[in-house]
Amino acid sequence: MERVLIIGAGLTGAGLAWHLARAGARVTVLEAGPYGASQASGHSFGWINGSFYLNPAHHRLRVAGMAAHHRLALDLGADLWDWPGCLWWEDAAGLDAMAAALGDLGYEARQVSRAEVAVLEPALVDPPAHALLFPQEGAVDAAALTRALLAGAAAAGAEVLFGIAAIGLDASAKGWAVQTADGVLAADQVILAAGTGAAALLAGLGYRLPMLQRPGMILTTHPVARRLTHILAMPEGDLRQDRAGRLIAPLAAHHQSDTAEEAPPDPKALIAEALARLNAMLRGPALQVEQTALAFRPVPGDGLPAVGPVAAGLWLAVMHSGVTLGPYVAEGLAAEVLGQGADPLLAPFRPERLWA
Ligand SMILES: Cc1cc2nc3c(=O)[nH]c(=O)nc-3n(C[C@H](O)[C@H](O)[C@H](O)COP(=O)(O)OP(=O)(O)OC[C@H]3O[C@@H](n4cnc5c(N)ncnc54)[C@H](O)[C@@H]3O)c2cc1C
Repeated sequence: MERVLIIGAGLTGAGLAWHLARAGARVTVLEAGPYGASQASGHSFGWINGSFYLNPAHHRLRVAGMAAHHRLALDLGADLWDWPGCLWWEDAAGLDAMAAALGDLGYEARQVSRAEVAVLEPALVDPPAHALLFPQEGAVDAAALTRALLAGAAAAGAEVLFGIAAIGLDASAKGWAVQTADGVLAADQVILAAGTGAAALLAGLGYRLPMLQRPGMILTTHPVARRLTHILAMPEGDLRQDRAGRLIAPLAAHHQSDTAEEAPPDPKALIAEALARLNAMLRGPALQVEQTALAFRPVPGDGLPAVGPVAAGLWLAVMHSGVTLGPYVAEGLAAEVLGQGADPLLAPFRPERLWA
């Protein structure tokens, strides 16, 4: 039986563990942090979409990601997803071009007028003149999905070790040796699903994985009565309401394509501004902040996922938009690790393009 060691228990590592353990591999997951606190997956906006994309192959992978979420919902038997659709008017001037480009890709994007938006989202004080509706998009609590996958993986026999960091790895005649402060773990195959932590492990092996520095803050309000149905992608930023009634807003406009390289120098001012913006934007009693969190998106240097083989028995899975992409990538890469053939949708995203 293949011994597979996965480094990182975020959504990507958890999905890989779930697929591999259920396929009969002997899986160990090593996570530096405590249970349930994965870096990006624990602090994500959770929007599952095909509308934010960098090129057609990236779009196709995202659409495959959306379908993988639906499969996962059935296989996991969990009720964690909402598919309300997204209303997008992030770039009013680019609306027609966006609709045309997505139409060419066969993706449903419907133009809606101000009057229609007002009916779809009556709490909006000032609906936009036009928006695009992406009816098939959804959202999930990425932290809850990660926990569900880890529980499923453990039930299928995976060993999940928290609070243990991989500090280095070496190829040996018998496979791979992964060093931790508590000793060395041996495996036939190792998968680096360590998000922003992957580059340091690769550097120890002589591979340079360029990563962008992309901090993101998420503001969550106290739960309120239902105000929003759709995910909103607006010039002011993205916004959605979760099942518990909390409004969730990344504290940077265009958070999916955010180019901010530094954590906000004055988070308190940013939070106050964001809250004032939300309160001005939505009808209803004043919203209050429940929590804010800062996390770093794992973004490879060209913005695209880095997924595939690094060396014999060593694999990499690092990506932004990993909530959208993670379930498909886990499915496809698990099959590759098990020797079931290369996944054509993953072919444009091999890590070797990034070794400089
Ligand atoms: C603010 C914000 C908003 C986002 N919004 C969206 C969105 O709306 N839609 C979307 O699709 N994506 C979104 N993303 C991106 C998405 O959350 C990530 O791409 C995804 O969660 C990555 O999952 P991961 O498992 O690959 O990485 P992570 O969740 O970061 O998990 C990697 C894990 O590896 C562990 N680790 C690191 N180094 C080591 C080591 N040496 N040894 C052991 N363990 C290690 C870390 O502790 C971490 O838990 C957002 C991200 C952020 C930060």
